[in-house]
Amino acid sequence: MAQVFVNATLVLADRLLENGWLLEENGKIARYGTDTAPDADAVIDCGGKYLSPGFIDVHCHGGGGGSFMSMDLEQHIKAMQMHLSHGVTALTPTPGTIDPEQIRQLRAIKEEIDRREDLPHHLGYFMEGPLTQPHPDMAMGDAKAPVITPDIYEPALKEAKGIVNRWMAAPELEGGMEFGRALRAAGITGCMGHSNATVADVEEAMRNGYSCVVHLYSVMSTVTRDNGFRRGGLVEAGLLFDDLDVEIICDGCHLPPELIKLAVKCKGYDKLMLVSDCGPLGGFPEGEYEADFGPMKVKVFIEDGVCKPPARNCFLGSVATGDRLVRTVYKQAGIPLWGAVRMATKTPARHCGWEGRKGEITVGADADLVIFDDDIQVSAVYLMGKAVK
Ligand SMILES: [Zn+2]
Repeated sequence: MAQVFVNATLVLADRLLENGWLLEENGKIARYGTDTAPDADAVIDCGGKYLSPGFIDVHCHGGGGGSFMSMDLEQHIKAMQMHLSHGVTALTPTPGTIDPEQIRQLRAIKEEIDRREDLPHHLGYFMEGPLTQPHPDMAMGDAKAPVITPDIYEPALKEAKGIVNRWMAAPELEGGMEFGRALRAAGITGCMGHSNATVADVEEAMRNGYSCVVHLYSVMSTVTRDNGFRRGGLVEAGLLFDDLDVEIICDGCHLPPELIKLAVKCKGYDKLMLVSDCGPLGGFPEGEYEADFGPMKVKVFIEDGVCKPPARNCFLGSVATGDRLVRTVYKQAGIPLWGAVRMATKTPARHCGWEGRKGEITVGADADLVIFDDDIQVSAVYLMGKAVK
């Protein structure tokens, strides 16, 4: 069974290919080119729109009313369906637990998701915390930083092997470097976030298993002064060190265009990843809601395109979807469309260990594809060549 997509502008990793066609065979990209398309069992006319690799979101807590922080399969499915409809064909669902029993439940959920052919590909979880600095803006939870010791995390990492892809911690906290080494030993990418690390801390962390910075600029240290002597924080380290992959939340609210442009200028398309940090309310219209943030339920507002607590003094994650991330970077920050797409596809695929297999239009890669117009309105989504929208 082969099908050919015609009349499309192909979004390649390094350019746009106009008047393009793409031949899909057995769920894989078999060939692509311009002008005369080859014969196939079925022809899909893209109507002159873009044909792009599906988006990959490596930091996503939920959406469509479903929460990845829940241990309920239905909630995971609900969130996945919502993101799929906006062009996300693979993601790393983001809960936050270090409880081995809960991680066992998450394994069972992943196994169910893996059996389905109508949901985004589950690349393994992105686990947040608990070894992080207290959130400075929010008077919720414990104000003290936690301490985690091997007797707490070793049983969790044993359960997490093979189903957790990446894990966030603040490396400067007590036990942070040991935890980074334990993550590395478990084959899990150490990600720095919700952290007050100095540049020196980050250099040490990079020798101890950490290789990524979570949502740059948000909930992290930047330039401080120590009796007049300035020093850099995690923001500067993320921008400076080429070995670090860096996430940016591109909902158009968390970061203004100039900070997106600065990050692109420093990191380039191959080290920067567009993420949503989307909460369970992703995809809902503006209004007042009760949101489920793991252990607590809180009243929140969706206003100005973002989720806020009643005090409206900060953001509680985003309500963004994959299409909106690309649209923000393309339209607001003026990045070429292929570059914006690369940061939402090929780069996160490589980060998650799927280089060449997902996240790009290349021969032999999975035919996870989306069709969208110049406003990044997604009209069709394909998983392994199968139409799901
Ligand atoms: Zn998050």
